[in-house]
Amino acid sequence: MSKVPPEVVERVKKLREEIEYHNYRYYVLNSPVISDAEYDALMRELKELEEKYPELITPDSPTQRVGFKPAEAFKEVKHEEPMLSLDDAMNEEEVLEFDKRVKKFLNLPEEKEIEYTVEPKIDGLAVELVYENGVFTVGSTRGDGYTGEDVTNNLKTIPSIPLKLRRFTDDAPPIPPRIDVRGEVFMTKEEFKRLNEERILKGELPFANPRNAAAGSLRQLDPKVTAQRKLDIFCYGVGKVEGIRFKTQWEILQTLKKWGLKINPLARVVKNIKEAIEYHHYIESIRESLDYDIDGVVIKVNDLELWEKLGTKARSPRYAIAYKFQPTQATTQLVDVVFQVGRTGAITPVAVLKPVQIGGVTVERATLHNEDFIKNLDVRIGDWVLVQRAGDVIPQIVMPIKEKRTGKEKPIKFPTHCPICGTKLVKKEGEAIWRCPNPNCYASLVRKILHFASRNAMNIEGLGEKVARDLVSKGLVQNIADLFYLKTEDFMRLPGFAYKKAKNLFEAIQKSKKTTLARFLYALGIRHVGEAMAQLLAQKFKTLENLMKASTADLMSISGVGYEVAKSIVDFFKNEENQKLIKRMLEAGVTFIDEEKEEEKTLNGLTFVFTGTLKSMTRDQAKKLVLEKGGRVTNSVSKNVDYVVVGEKPGSKYQKAKALGLKIINEQEFLKLIGKV
Ligand code: NAD
Repeated sequence: MSKVPPEVVERVKKLREEIEYHNYRYYVLNSPVISDAEYDALMRELKELEEKYPELITPDSPTQRVGFKPAEAFKEVKHEEPMLSLDDAMNEEEVLEFDKRVKKFLNLPEEKEIEYTVEPKIDGLAVELVYENGVFTVGSTRGDGYTGEDVTNNLKTIPSIPLKLRRFTDDAPPIPPRIDVRGEVFMTKEEFKRLNEERILKGELPFANPRNAAAGSLRQLDPKVTAQRKLDIFCYGVGKVEGIRFKTQWEILQTLKKWGLKINPLARVVKNIKEAIEYHHYIESIRESLDYDIDGVVIKVNDLELWEKLGTKARSPRYAIAYKFQPTQATTQLVDVVFQVGRTGAITPVAVLKPVQIGGVTVERATLHNEDFIKNLDVRIGDWVLVQRAGDVIPQIVMPIKEKRTGKEKPIKFPTHCPICGTKLVKKEGEAIWRCPNPNCYASLVRKILHFASRNAMNIEGLGEKVARDLVSKGLVQNIADLFYLKTEDFMRLPGFAYKKAKNLFEAIQKSKKTTLARFLYALGIRHVGEAMAQLLAQKFKTLENLMKASTADLMSISGVGYEVAKSIVDFFKNEENQKLIKRMLEAGVTFIDEEKEEEKTLNGLTFVFTGTLKSMTRDQAKKLVLEKGGRVTNSVSKNVDYVVVGEKPGSKYQKAKALGLKIINEQEFLKLIGKV
């Protein structure tokens, strides 16, 4: 026998302790402090270690047990048949493996197709309903699988649980003397939202998800509380049964329905595992539109005779598997909060998060809605938070994990003035949203960015109106200096931006940092400082530092600069915000090259397209010359192109250029333009 390395023994011990703690938080308190995906990862690690070192398996290991023992406050109910958990599969391969395992166990050839029932996996909590001669007598939670909690009176408040079974159709079998029905109690998304809003307003911590809300609502000592929460149920199976023999899982579902029990209308029978996988994809595609939460689909062998042959393991049957969906929640840390100004002036606090993967996507920001939301949730900078991302919805902070606080967390201060224009914010009575009352605020920032990026200013290629608007509305840019701090990943958050486009824009901004003083002064958008004035100022003062120190008198000594212009310039540089802005831009690497060199760049801002063969040089040499002179070369003909250079045997670009009415020049004219003749 291999000797288990001590660090493995230690790790297994640690994992068990951690999992036990999280089981307690989840099953007893209904208040988990990690996401399900993080919990599943711990469980998987433990399972893998136990598989590798089976001598470490003990009967009380969490991998061998289901759920948690019943809470003392409830009367205990013994399940006649154990209520087990399900093994899970995270991807197609694992599902195919499951199908193979089933056949291997049954000694069936690999090509044999197994029929399965497929059902949505409801994210709620399992209960057992005992019906004696059709009358609902005892209802319990799953507990540790063998003994559950008596929640009969609470279950009786759920309208979809019949207190008496009846034969609703002529072909319904007679009601048996005893049947233990298994089902999942859940809360609709709407009720979950309502309940959480109510809890937040009361200063209570919201539930992490509808499952915890359903469990918290059902495991109440006072049934009146349960009755107020609108709970529902889908039944999916049976435990102990007397007086009736079912042949298939499908028959169980149909019969329960005929007796008045609610089953999920999306359940199906499929011919083989491939169809089960297709069903999973289909259900995942409609997941968001359902009014209850599901976290996967359950695939069960349909034939119950095979169930008997397959049997069960310690905590799960061999005839079923839960094929899970991508997770929607994760925990991470709240690093900062920025305040975004919307088109209508509404201020939205946006959480800046330590990047975290949720269902294959990196999440770095989440909405915090408004000031009341922050206050009620009592979320602080530095907090560990549970973040949720579902479908296309903006990621949300579900709740702070207060247990993880160290005391260093800082309260979030809501601004009193607009982060863009500095105007005092206002809030209408009865409204939760603060607004900037300046009607030009949002639009003026977009305009400032466009001016800053324009050809004759910083000349940032690819930063047009739509991008500027999106940057502002996503809260990525609150002033022009922010542009220099954006990373490729930030641009990837904009609509229509994949990696390449994002990288191009990032590089265009980096390139723009090398500029002339005149361009920079013009780009700043100082009142009365147009292109010509910016040139004049750059020539006279040589450096930005000199200009920033200049007095009105200094400026007025220049011919062409009057009092109004001089005052506007002095005021601009005196303003602390503007000073900070300039400092941040210089820190980001904005540097000035001298005018002379710049003058050589005669093609600055001009875009060229080449078509056909040039006689005096190769296409690459021509491109290089254009770039050296500050121009750009592109392959696609559009209205943004300034010159189409036509060589011998031009292609379709020539036709397109003519159709668009672009300026078309021949090789000789091109050489002239670049000063070669
Ligand atoms: P499970 O929820 O993954 O699967 C078994 C359960 O699925 C059954 O007991 C039943 O209640 C339910 N189910 C829903 N629809 C069903 C259907 N159509 N047919 C059969 N069963 C159906 O397993 P589990 O053992 O109950 O709990 C594990 C889950 O709880 C995991 O998702 C885990 O992440 C989560 N958990 C999280 C934490 C945490 O701290 N975040 C702690 C403990 C457990």
